[in-house]
Amino acid sequence: MTSPQPIRDLILAVPSPLEELADDRLRAAGLRMLLKRDDLVHPDLPGNKWRKLKHNLAAAAAGNFHTLLTFGGAFSKQILATAAAGHHFGFNTVGVVRGEEHVPLNPLLARAAELGMSLTYVDRDRYRRRTEPAFLRRLRREFGPHYVIPAGGANREGVRGCAELPGEITSAYDVICVSSGTGCTLAGVGIGLPAGRTAIGFASLRGDFLTGDVTALQREYGRTTQNWTVNTEFPFGGFARRPPELLDFLTDFRDRHGITLDAVYEAKMMAGIVELAGRGHWQPGTTLVAVLG
Ligand SMILES: *Cc1c(COP(=O)(O)O)cnc(C)c1O
Repeated sequence: MTSPQPIRDLILAVPSPLEELADDRLRAAGLRMLLKRDDLVHPDLPGNKWRKLKHNLAAAAAGNFHTLLTFGGAFSKQILATAAAGHHFGFNTVGVVRGEEHVPLNPLLARAAELGMSLTYVDRDRYRRRTEPAFLRRLRREFGPHYVIPAGGANREGVRGCAELPGEITSAYDVICVSSGTGCTLAGVGIGLPAGRTAIGFASLRGDFLTGDVTALQREYGRTTQNWTVNTEFPFGGFARRPPELLDFLTDFRDRHGITLDAVYEAKMMAGIVELAGRGHWQPGTTLVAVLG
């Protein structure tokens, strides 16, 4: 399948840069850290979301679909990224948002609407049943034929895009750290990892479902690997929670490094890395790559 071609100007900073992060806490543990700056790929289409969308766009075009439909919470970056992808690649887009409509729209949904996305709202109960045939039929009646991108972009095409990440890393390293929502990124990174390297996914949601979900996504892709683990110690209370200790970490990290981490994913992963480093989790001399964005 060929790569999707934008119909409008689109500048994606790919491959995203790799930067050394000099952090005293990691250095004290004998660790070197490189940041894979996927957050710099595009403001509406950060690398994590772009990787998961890319092959889905190609599949939608190959199937002659003119509309993309996706799901997410009201603060889902996947919704916004799909709106941006539709805008740039010439698809209509529909966002099925969990919960009630709140007017005015939050900045993320307002931007998605500005990019041309139709937003529709479903209650939590119906949202939970979003993959059932009856619900999907209803959506087809309402919005016409469309290509469905699951919540978080977590499908086989999403895994495929994320599997391309390790190949972009040209420096020597031992461990790739990612933050995990659906686990799609971790599933793909595990598949793309060269021999002898490992990946850790830091769960940003509470619960123990990720190991099973990552395995299921790898199976859907057609290859399972044993080179990854999930860490569930640092969800900081759950998905949309921002407890003071997380915000303090974020502020301190910004003061140290001039990088503002997002509170949903990146700050939890980074706080987890710093904590694990302090506990001696990695041998001195280990090089970590942490993926932002
Ligand atoms: C969306 C997002 C994730 C979620 O990744 P999954 O593939 O759903 O596990 C992780 N990190 C960042 C920065 C994201 O924007």
